[in-house]
Amino acid sequence: MDINGLHHITAIASDPRKNFEFYTRVLGLRFVKKSVNQDDPGTYHLYYGDYAGSPGTILTFFPWIGMRRGRPGTGQAWATGYSIPATALEYWIKRLNDLDIATEPVAERFGDKVLTLFDPDGLRLELVATAEPDPREPAPSTDVPREHAIRGFHSSTLGLTDASATARTLTATMGYREIATASHRTRYAVGQGGPGTYVDLLTDPNLPRGLSGAGTIHHVAFSTADDDTQLVAHREIDASGLDVSPIIDRAYFKSIYYREPGGVLFEIATDQPGFAIDEPVESLGTKLGLPPRLEPYREQIEAALPKLN
Ligand code: ZN
Repeated sequence: MDINGLHHITAIASDPRKNFEFYTRVLGLRFVKKSVNQDDPGTYHLYYGDYAGSPGTILTFFPWIGMRRGRPGTGQAWATGYSIPATALEYWIKRLNDLDIATEPVAERFGDKVLTLFDPDGLRLELVATAEPDPREPAPSTDVPREHAIRGFHSSTLGLTDASATARTLTATMGYREIATASHRTRYAVGQGGPGTYVDLLTDPNLPRGLSGAGTIHHVAFSTADDDTQLVAHREIDASGLDVSPIIDRAYFKSIYYREPGGVLFEIATDQPGFAIDEPVESLGTKLGLPPRLEPYREQIEAALPKLN
């Protein structure tokens, strides 16, 4: 099947305003789409990414107000890595320190330096200061200078008790290849490789069993070009013996879902049609995006949602 890399990653939050402030102002990402949870339209679905909301840059949240914290661990995506230039590390250490954002000491990983930080719900994020070329244009930001800005995702790290079956799904079914391994971590790449394609499998015995809640990842979505390549992916996931959902229209992309053998919920999402179908690229994130069946209730839905800024 044709997987290009990561598409989006969706996490759970507890306060939409703090979430909005953190991702747009602290990290300098663009607010790409304001929508609602299609199964729970009283709750936002918030999307942050680059200028156009390109696949491989989009972190999305379901911010359920007052949601209890989860516990990151095995059976979940453990960490979400963002790509920054190798020269931007000092800038970010100082910036996060000045803003009182919780961080961990810089670690070394496969030749890159990794700065771990936590969002207001304790979601584990990594700024991977990489010397690998990453030509992606960052989101324009008044808070973060272009030369230091986040380029998009670097990697998703999955926490697992045993990586072997997950590795088989990645390599035998999804087209990934193993490219590096050290201690409890093995890295896989797909397609052209490079930042934005990596999946790391982590089998650190110190990881607790993950529990869903605020500050944890709900699912990891992989990019495929269009309806045709998604049909192929659907057929091949099904043939591999995993239980895969029907194709679901999410307005900005079409999706299929399946749980990989290690317990992490995967999605394969189409790059088409993208986020500019219901508002122009220049003003992404300003109009509440609603699926057609909820459009008649726009006024009530908007009135019930908290203001973001
Ligand atoms: Zn998704």
